[in-house]
Amino acid sequence: MTHIVKFFETTLRDGEQTPGINYFAEEKLEIARALADMGFDTLDCGFAISGEPEFEAIRLIARSVANAEICSIARCYPADIDRAWEAVKDAAHSSIHPFISTSPLHREVKLGKTRDDVLEMARTAVARGRQYTPNVDFALEDTTRTEHDFILEVVGAVRAEGVRFVALCDTVGFALPWEFGQLVADVKREFPDVRISAHCHDDLGLAVANALSGLSNGAERVDTCFNGLGERAGNAATEDVVMAIRTRRADLDLDVNVDTTKIIPTSRLIARLSGMQPQWTKSVVGANAFAHGGGIHQDGVLKDRRTYEIMRPEDIGLPPSETRMHVGKLSGRAALNAQLKELGYDLAPDQLARAFQLVKLVLGKKKVLEEMDLRRCADTAINPTATVADALVVEAQANGAAE
Ligand code: MN
Repeated sequence: MTHIVKFFETTLRDGEQTPGINYFAEEKLEIARALADMGFDTLDCGFAISGEPEFEAIRLIARSVANAEICSIARCYPADIDRAWEAVKDAAHSSIHPFISTSPLHREVKLGKTRDDVLEMARTAVARGRQYTPNVDFALEDTTRTEHDFILEVVGAVRAEGVRFVALCDTVGFALPWEFGQLVADVKREFPDVRISAHCHDDLGLAVANALSGLSNGAERVDTCFNGLGERAGNAATEDVVMAIRTRRADLDLDVNVDTTKIIPTSRLIARLSGMQPQWTKSVVGANAFAHGGGIHQDGVLKDRRTYEIMRPEDIGLPPSETRMHVGKLSGRAALNAQLKELGYDLAPDQLARAFQLVKLVLGKKKVLEEMDLRRCADTAINPTATVADALVVEAQANGAAE
């Protein structure tokens, strides 16, 4: 039976820890509504005890968004747990999410705590949270650099206190996909009833691969951020995990319960409010994700999109015509013809050949063609009285534009 993957969407928490991002409360609410409307299960909305504005923003979302579970994270201190609960308790669906670093490096350098200290703090944090709600999840920060036996010890301790999900965290993006999958499998073998969430960072570009490996080995939930935001190099990107699972669902035996047609509008909303645009070649949501530059590729796509596109633009919320032919140095005649048709031209083969020559001439002088350049080339090519002199005028104009 196909398993439906759950999401712990953390654009509003780990995503806001992206250096350079600062959402105002109303902006967090706008993003929360968009994420809830897409169908994500739990929205990690922030760290309630980190300050008054953060607390107020989480409470605003909790009181306004009923169609997703609203979560606050907390350190393993009583005051943190209480504050997290205070922020989310008015929500239709709520959860709290204590965390503590478990790795020797973090224990010694960051916390100044022993294994026993950490174990006790984890246990009491979950127990305290459980006094408020059954929806208490727990994260082992830096799990992937933690001793194997201690991971099992901590998971066993929070399990005994009635934890719901345990997040195994590749906090520093250090794991390799097969290692992360093995970690999940090991914990599942020891505690088959523990539900696992995969929290993976992208320091080595492996966050999505690690998360998928975790899901294939028994994790039921994944922590993700839109546009690959998050601390340092970001978290596993929401859009990537969603579309990887949707596109390869038959082979993964997994699927998502998410409205994928809202990916682009939501990505753009978050890009606008975060002030961070995805890079052009970003998977799924990048400006070039459905653009084709090479002549051979363009010819293929114009014959049948499936030759070079594994997703349909309309499935992620782009117009079907979003497939774009970039007319550049390496592009071919078929793409130029398609582009000129969109501009209302219908060139005979000899005219197209001439326009193609002119375009290449201009691209020797100018980095990027604008619509005006394409029109000028087409007009010159169509004009039966056009001469070599006209071509030189085109070139001179392009030259002028470049200077
Ligand atoms: Mn993180």
